[in-house]
Amino acid sequence: MIRPREISRTIALFPAETPTLPPATHTNSYALGSREVLLVEPATPYDGERRAFVEWAEGLRAQGRVLKGIIATHHHPDHIGGAKFLSEALALPLWASDETALRLDADVAVRLREGEEIVLDGPTPTSWRVLITPGHAPGHVCLLEEKSGTVVVGDMVASVGTILIARGDGDMRVYLAELARLRDLGARLALPAHGEPIDEPSKLFAHYIDHRLKRERKVLTALEKASGTRTLAALLPDVYDDVSIAIFPIAMLSLETHVDKLVADGRVVEKNGAYALVKHAARA
Ligand SMILES: [Zn+2]
Repeated sequence: MIRPREISRTIALFPAETPTLPPATHTNSYALGSREVLLVEPATPYDGERRAFVEWAEGLRAQGRVLKGIIATHHHPDHIGGAKFLSEALALPLWASDETALRLDADVAVRLREGEEIVLDGPTPTSWRVLITPGHAPGHVCLLEEKSGTVVVGDMVASVGTILIARGDGDMRVYLAELARLRDLGARLALPAHGEPIDEPSKLFAHYIDHRLKRERKVLTALEKASGTRTLAALLPDVYDDVSIAIFPIAMLSLETHVDKLVADGRVVEKNGAYALVKHAARA
């Protein structure tokens, strides 16, 4: 793997090994800016990878770049495994949303807010707008550069592996709404935390929405076929009849947030840990 990689005159990509969800093995960090530089994702918890990250960042300084801080898009371990270490080793402040800051055991010096502009000066100045996009994780941050149509998307989508929406951090209803917001940006390039940069990402955002809504329809169909209520364990093989059973433990986590959304939408009711379509519940 060649790293760092220049994506454009103002963006470099540095993938580092992390304990992430297979088949992904790495988390991408990015350096944004032509003189003033923001690093994104203090990701790796591994010593050798952290040293390589520090060398990369010091190399940017040696070129005359001015490092302003390190942004964490959200609090998951494969994104903040180096937060404390890297901010101390590089003497750089951490930047994150309030929700992410709450969940980090490192000090967040700069709190990011929806809609704010981060201007990075230099030969090619860039301006990044903060978008708070929960659904995968509370306070998840994306960054949009309108001039070039570039959006840093963290874990909203990936070009390798899948994005897990799980109870606790995740909310399927909110996630789909935020994906629609990203789709409607009409961006030209998305920079995900896992996998290759994505050209014309609106298609991928739309595909993610479509894929999740198809799964939701399978939940509704499986409930329609049932005369009474069905547990999640009973629903799982019907709703995920197209995946290997090796995936079932992960699929169960997704199924939980799918039914939570349907309950929130008023289409499904929960009774003693089992689920039914609202029309069945009304008859009972
Ligand atoms: Zn994540």
